[in-house]
Amino acid sequence: MWELKEYRFAATAQEAGALRRQGPGKGAYIAGGTDMYLQPVDCDFVVDINNAGLSDIARTPAGDLFLGAATTLHNIATNPLVADFAEGMLIQAASHCGNRPVRSTATVGGNLCHALPSADMAPVLLALDATCYIADEESQESVPLADFFVSPRVTVLDDRLLVGLALPAEAATRRCASYKLTRSAEDISLVQVVVALGVENGKIETARIALGAVAPVPMRAVLAEAQLVGQSVADISLDLVADAAAIAAGECEPRDDHRASAEYRRDMVRVLTRRQIMKALHDETTITKDSGGTVA
Ligand SMILES: Cc1cc2nc3c(=O)[nH]c(=O)nc-3n(C[C@H](O)[C@H](O)[C@H](O)COP(=O)(O)OP(=O)(O)OC[C@H]3O[C@@H](n4cnc5c(N)ncnc54)[C@H](O)[C@@H]3O)c2cc1C
Repeated sequence: MWELKEYRFAATAQEAGALRRQGPGKGAYIAGGTDMYLQPVDCDFVVDINNAGLSDIARTPAGDLFLGAATTLHNIATNPLVADFAEGMLIQAASHCGNRPVRSTATVGGNLCHALPSADMAPVLLALDATCYIADEESQESVPLADFFVSPRVTVLDDRLLVGLALPAEAATRRCASYKLTRSAEDISLVQVVVALGVENGKIETARIALGAVAPVPMRAVLAEAQLVGQSVADISLDLVADAAAIAAGECEPRDDHRASAEYRRDMVRVLTRRQIMKALHDETTITKDSGGTVA
């Protein structure tokens, strides 16, 4: 039983910070509450941020996509501005997170701030180079999402508020593919793989391979990414893609649990990374005409 002494409502991000610091005792922010009600945080009071002006989805004149931290997963999954960005990859991630009732209150900020290795929104946002905007009453800071997670359930936030996330305009045109491997449609990820490739003049200029549920925190497979950069889409070989996938499998640090063994997870990173790279290349490559390599 969660015994709270007080439930406070913030009307702005600044007020949220002030209400949290005000005491007495220890405070915590609450958004959708879908994680907090399941695993109550040790605190005396909560500050509700749902009406603090943090629920906007907007595209800046420069083309960056901004997601307020308190935007629900349902709103992300149904917003046309999100559909237009990176082949709808964020929609896919949001609509595979939990079930419909959960998505209608669960927020993108809560998903990241709870900081589980299996947080479904983390790999797609990592693959699209998201920046986190963080604030308290006195200061504001922006931190790349790649530097946001410290360890399971720990982020760089301390007592600060995640205000929102920005995705650069350049990521909007990346070729993307992702896969969430689960035991059932509503279960959390066993393995998640997101591939996002920036292609210019037929060459891979930017490669992102982000992985979920296979390390203490959501991660990028940077060595595997490096294999792909500079490659011509038309000429890339099946062997090179298979090598990149094997490198990604070597980079992750999965562990055994009741859902799957570490060995299975690592092998699924290899298989799914290879498949997502192929999908992201949109079959433009001559890859399938190569030496008869198999897809496994
Ligand atoms: C039935 C069910 C199924 C689920 N399935 C999935 C799934 O498939 N995939 C998945 O990834 N998750 C799943 N979840 C977990 C959960 O729904 C998500 O992680 C959700 O996005 C959390 O958001 P929230 O707004 O409910 O967070 P809350 O519970 O409100 O908060 C979570 C944590 O983040 C902190 N916090 C929230 N917002 C901020 C902020 N802006 N700044 C600083 N700190 C903040 C809170 O203090 C708390 O510590 C499931 C949950 C349930 C109940």
